Amino acid sequence: MKHTLCRFILAVLTAAPAALGQHSGLAPAAERDWRADWRRERNRLVDADPSLTRDPTSILIQFRPHADDADIELLLMLARAETIETFPILPGLHHVMIHDQLDEALATVALLGDALGTVEYAEPDRISSALATPDDPSMEQLWGLHNTGQLIAGSDPGTANADIDAPRAWDTFKGNPEFTIAIFDTGLRRTHEDLAANIWTNPGEVPDGIDNDGNGRIDDLWGWDFYNNDNDPSDDHNHGTHVAGTIGARGNNGRGIAGVNWYCRLASLKISSASASVSDSAVIQALSYCIQKDIRISNHSWGGRGYSQSLYNACNAARAAGHLIIASAGNNSTDNDVIPFYPASFNLDNIISVAAIDNDNAKASFSNWGAVSVDIAAPGVMVLSGTRYHDAAYAYFHGTSMAAPHVTGVAALVWGRSPALTYLQVREALLSSAKPIPSMAGRCVTGGCVNARNALHIRPAPGDGPR
Ligand code: CA
Ligand code: CA
Repeated sequence: MKHTLCRFILAVLTAAPAALGQHSGLAPAAERDWRADWRRERNRLVDADPSLTRDPTSILIQFRPHADDADIELLLMLARAETIETFPILPGLHHVMIHDQLDEALATVALLGDALGTVEYAEPDRISSALATPDDPSMEQLWGLHNTGQLIAGSDPGTANADIDAPRAWDTFKGNPEFTIAIFDTGLRRTHEDLAANIWTNPGEVPDGIDNDGNGRIDDLWGWDFYNNDNDPSDDHNHGTHVAGTIGARGNNGRGIAGVNWYCRLASLKISSASASVSDSAVIQALSYCIQKDIRISNHSWGGRGYSQSLYNACNAARAAGHLIIASAGNNSTDNDVIPFYPASFNLDNIISVAAIDNDNAKASFSNWGAVSVDIAAPGVMVLSGTRYHDAAYAYFHGTSMAAPHVTGVAALVWGRSPALTYLQVREALLSSAKPIPSMAGRCVTGGCVNARNALHIRPAPGDGPR
């Protein structure tokens, strides 16, 4: 066995220099170029195959704490891999470009890791997707915020009070204009008439081609595109603009809709391609960014199957920093207790997993559920919000992607009103005040729907319906 391993290492040692030659000894500018080349090729492959669940061009390697730079360099050379990026919140985690087939590269790293004793684990960079189905554009009522039984899009009457009681919450509090919410999504249209007034801007950065705040990102003025690694987190899909509008479209501005928060700061942390494919590596970088910038809450209307140790570790590091993650439960109409869906299904108390209901308080047909692993439900069918096509564009979308932003919005109301709360106190405020609904009994931890009025501890008024 030992002999075979030595021969194996010798073989890769012999093969390595040829493969690595093209990148060795390059100046920093040229190094940036090979990474840009890699990103273009990765994007091309991912966009060409919507069924991909693992990036075929790169992997994540977690080195052991004792591994020094020389150890890491040795293993990467033997494995014919090169570091694309590392992650501030996860020391020792390297996102590396590979030259071999994915499974072959993982096997090689596992073998070398055993031999050298420097690797904790290696795993694929998962590819997941954003979670929504668009519907026809139309102006209509926001039943999820306030349901009087009105017709939605000219049909589909709802049930009065199947909603989150937003107007009653707004009587007391409409949002904190200084409270920042990270949108982990396809970007957002910052000039949209209902978003422009609520966009977060990086206080440490000016548009001068210089990394003024020294975070390694030049001119990250209002967020970052972590998937393409550039400073333009605009929406090239639609999903992110819609999600952002539900959380924080400016209220009472005579235009469009109102978000759960009329006032807030929306930070666009783009983690996906134009086809809404999400990579774990982008998400981990974006979580690092939140911690650096002291952004305490993030909305995750995306997800996928397959466990990622790196993504778990990143969510756990965010937990240590007091960061709350609101995640969609998924649109597979399956039980997450049986088939987990990540990041929603990670067993961490800083993650709130959200199912979707319709305007009759029925579980949305597509929504995943989970008596143990899904926490709460929220409106996710025929949800009207902004889209990216122009500054006054709106559309109805369906999905647990639309449900999570209602919960994020309520969490931001609670936290924006009382910034001294911890993530656990905010979580407790939401989960303990959910309004029970029969369709979710036994299908999520709270058996109910998020309620903005209850979460803010406001007594119901006549006509509100029961708590
Ligand atoms: Ca910067
Ligand atoms: Ca700058």
